[in-house]
Amino acid sequence: MPSRKFADGEVVMGRWPGSVLYYEVQVTSYDDVAHLYTVKYKDGTELALKESDIRSQSSFKHRKSQSSSSSPSRRSSSRSRSRSRSPGRPAKGRRRSASQSREHKDDKKKTIQETSLALAVLVLFKPSENNTKRYNGEPESTEKNDTSCIILEQKLKPDLEIKRVLEQYSLRSRKDDKKTEEIFSEKKTFVPLKPIEKVPSKTKELEFGGRIGTFMLVFLLPATVFYLLLMCKQDDPSLLNFPALPALESLWDWRVFGVFLLWFFLQAVFYLLPVGKVVEGLPLSNGRKLQYRINGFYAFILTAAAIGVLLYFQFELRYLYDHFMQFAVSAAAFSLALSIYLYVRSLKAPEEELALGGNSGYFIYDFFTGHELNPRIGSFDLKYFCELRPGLLGWVVINLAMLLAEMKIHNLSMPSLSMILVNSFQLLYVVDALWNEEAILTTMDITHDGFGFMLAFGDLVWVPFVYSLQAFYLVGHPITITWPVAAAITVLNCVGYYIFRSANSQKNNFRRNPTDPKLANLKFIPTATGKGLLVTGWWGFVRHPNYLGDIVMALAWSLPCGFNHILPYFYVIYFICLLVHREARDEHHCKQKYGLAWERYCQRVPYRIFPYIY
Ligand code: NDP
Repeated sequence: MPSRKFADGEVVMGRWPGSVLYYEVQVTSYDDVAHLYTVKYKDGTELALKESDIRSQSSFKHRKSQSSSSSPSRRSSSRSRSRSRSPGRPAKGRRRSASQSREHKDDKKKTIQETSLALAVLVLFKPSENNTKRYNGEPESTEKNDTSCIILEQKLKPDLEIKRVLEQYSLRSRKDDKKTEEIFSEKKTFVPLKPIEKVPSKTKELEFGGRIGTFMLVFLLPATVFYLLLMCKQDDPSLLNFPALPALESLWDWRVFGVFLLWFFLQAVFYLLPVGKVVEGLPLSNGRKLQYRINGFYAFILTAAAIGVLLYFQFELRYLYDHFMQFAVSAAAFSLALSIYLYVRSLKAPEEELALGGNSGYFIYDFFTGHELNPRIGSFDLKYFCELRPGLLGWVVINLAMLLAEMKIHNLSMPSLSMILVNSFQLLYVVDALWNEEAILTTMDITHDGFGFMLAFGDLVWVPFVYSLQAFYLVGHPITITWPVAAAITVLNCVGYYIFRSANSQKNNFRRNPTDPKLANLKFIPTATGKGLLVTGWWGFVRHPNYLGDIVMALAWSLPCGFNHILPYFYVIYFICLLVHREARDEHHCKQKYGLAWERYCQRVPYRIFPYIY
């Protein structure tokens, strides 16, 4: 086995993928299975490179001195150019006619011009901060004429090739500066590059408070759910009125657990039905794309039909309300068992299938954040299934059960206005998620986070049992609201929904097809990865417009519960914290992915979620 040539921490010259340019990089790690070096560019961009794409700085200096004389490369390029452009050129040694000699002169002149252009192109982009800005799509116009870090492998590229390099890496020559407006105002065809191959390496930056934080969260999250549910059951759910702990044996009921399992496996059957289109997810680190069946909305219709049948046969959906805590315990036990299974199977998963964020080597951290990115049993994608089906559909079924329980307990002929609002708003949210199921494929949960306790518990327990808190609260604490108040809250929810939906669709459509004519009016900053960053439309308003819309909706879901207690506002408070934290995580990932292009975006769009506030 050949040993690695470059050590961690060594500063070397790395070729920018697909181009002829070499920049100064630092080796951060080496994968001896894939034989790839992870290198860090000066702007923070990390890439995985083959050994053949890396040169020592000394060899570069040597080459540079050769190339500065420019003859070898110039000669070879000149030859290749002549061959391609003048197939009918007389053989060597034959006398030229005057016109031929003129042509030759023109050709030579052109060659020299091209040489200058090629040199100019390369000279413009040195791997200093300036340079990294540029190849990350930074539309700065100040350059330094310093070739010290550039190696010219093939000096005289044909025009098109040069143009390709320029466009792909968002580079442009000085000459173009005058003609060109800021690069992000251009309307040019955007060709996504092949994804940059990045082999998952060990997670070095731990999130969620690292090992201690994740250890505590494993206990804190379930404790919070049970605390909220116990509080909600109390007549006086004030924060200071701590609920009495129930007897342990009252928390478990095998029948309830059986119903939960039935629900879970029924949803799994719906998921497996061969209806709905099959789409590809975003490229993985190895360039592969997984296939996903989009049939969540069918699952919703089938679930609605099944519930309809149960109600028709007088099944008391209130059973859910009466055994709510036991259902939560069953779901928690199941999610714990699932997380253990996921962790154990992840130990055998190939390195390239591990999540970038959940591969720290620390058991508790990887168990919590998720070690494997896309655990699948055959074509059954466990994470994708849990994200939208049992939990999300479970949430609306629980809401419906609460509505029926309210009518029954308070002897109402129809549900309260508050309950109708909460049910309708949240139903809209769930139906929207299922209708736009494909959009989930570009979210952080699918593309970045592994499947571990965090998502398993989040999807199966937190979403159905905490998000339904307002409906649960209203059963025990009825509130009367007037029609004008209901109308105002409805308008608020619609505004939030509009922002949320249009922002998500804009980004999703742009990611899936940047050349979509419907997006022709949007401007973007190109980045070195081939993806653009939208700077107009919703994504030019704030950096996470979809979070803004989501938070506005969250407020509209809590308002129908009145102002007697803070408990029904738990969701909106928690949600703001969640999305602020999530936004920070996403910013961090985007900074790593896009380097200074991301900084440029941040300058252009200064507010993260709330315009003029945050
Ligand atoms: P987003 O859908 O906001 O995706 C973030 C990604 O979008 C970034 O990593 C980047 O990925 C891309 N991006 C960022 N800026 C731009 C830009 N200017 N132009 C183009 N692409 C950009 O992330 P989430 O997965 O966090 O959220 C998805 C939805 O789910 C949101 O509406 C959120 O509110 C909601 N959500 C709801 C939760 C709930 O519990 N109800 C919990 C969490 C989220 P790249 O460049 O790689 O494509």
